[in-house]
Amino acid sequence: MRTQQHSKDSYDVVVVGGGAAGLSAALILGRSRRSVLVVDAGEPRNAPAAHMHGYPSRDGMAPGAFLAEVRREIAAYGVELVRGRVTAAEPDGADAFDVTLADGGLVHARRLVVATGLVDELPDLPGVAERWGNDVIHCPYCHGWEVRDQAIGVLYSQASGSHQALLFSQLSHDVTLFLDGADEDDLPDADWQLLAAAGVSVVSGKLDGLVVTDDALSGVRLADGREFARSVFVVPPRMTPRDSLLTALGARTKDTPAGPFTDVDPTGLTSVPGVWAVGNATGPAEQVVNAASAGYRAGATLNAELLHADLARAAERRKEGVFSPEGERAVARARTARAGSVGA
Ligand SMILES: Cc1cc2nc3c(=O)[nH]c(=O)nc-3n(C[C@H](O)[C@H](O)[C@H](O)COP(=O)(O)OP(=O)(O)OC[C@H]3O[C@@H](n4cnc5c(N)ncnc54)[C@H](O)[C@@H]3O)c2cc1C
Repeated sequence: MRTQQHSKDSYDVVVVGGGAAGLSAALILGRSRRSVLVVDAGEPRNAPAAHMHGYPSRDGMAPGAFLAEVRREIAAYGVELVRGRVTAAEPDGADAFDVTLADGGLVHARRLVVATGLVDELPDLPGVAERWGNDVIHCPYCHGWEVRDQAIGVLYSQASGSHQALLFSQLSHDVTLFLDGADEDDLPDADWQLLAAAGVSVVSGKLDGLVVTDDALSGVRLADGREFARSVFVVPPRMTPRDSLLTALGARTKDTPAGPFTDVDPTGLTSVPGVWAVGNATGPAEQVVNAASAGYRAGATLNAELLHADLARAAERRKEGVFSPEGERAVARARTARAGSVGA
């Protein structure tokens, strides 16, 4: 399964990143009898969470157990997986890539799948980092059901506005939006109306930090000393793609509300021929099931692209006469003899 060393120097495909997206691509490529190496640094985004939700048939499973299961599945198809970090990927000048690992190793790959995920930068508020993925959360679909009916605080940001508070009001009647020093006038009138209709309270004033009691969030403290009892706090992380390999290869980016992300077509193909990108590396909203789906599509498309590239090359060789007329006749004679022997 997870080995320290790869067995070859050259693969059809190197998959960079062994989260849901990368492993899903590897699974479909392995099942297509491609030689595949997955290089994974082992820092999946949802590692701080105890449970993964919203993946049909795997709802509530531990994220680590889910990945371990997929690793077992890809190993059955001969896919190799090493713990390591890819530091560079460069075109080799002949329709393939040289891939450098942090340990100095060099691997050759005909095609690349970059599935490196993203980094969540948390707001710089005391207590947030310590409780991230536990009672400090970001996503109503990942953790919302689990915190239903609780006292939920939501941290305002200009980017998310009132959106998260409104979504969480679907899950609890006790939701408070903390403006954290933002001007009340920053919120458009329409937002105030929606917040009022949803029954969301709004608290102005700068925040000082979270209050934790017996290893559980118990409140939110303002700089003026006031405390509000809350057992859940929703924050908007700044999401930055781990895309240094892609930008170094010259992949085009697109603007999203969360900033620039690598631009891919519906199959995950980037603007760089031979390089696919999938999962959170390509967008902030790629949940586990979407990441796995993107990996599947990329794996299948890439397999077909390699097949046709090889067949086109073979057809070209025939045209160039690499197969001599004598050789072709010999093959035909052998075929005729075989056909004749069946009927004899
Ligand atoms: C706290 C939290 C809870 C979440 N809960 C849920 C949930 O319940 N349900 C849900 O659907 N989604 C959830 N998500 C979102 C989920 O984490 C992502 O959808 C998912 O991880 C995306 O998969 P991925 O394969 O794109 O990236 P990741 O899972 O982040 O995997 C990327 C992998 O690439 C590796 N890597 C990065 N750079 C390199 C490199 N240069 N070389 C080698 N390897 C590299 C990383 O170490 C990592 O292992 C949650 C997110 C957070 C933050």
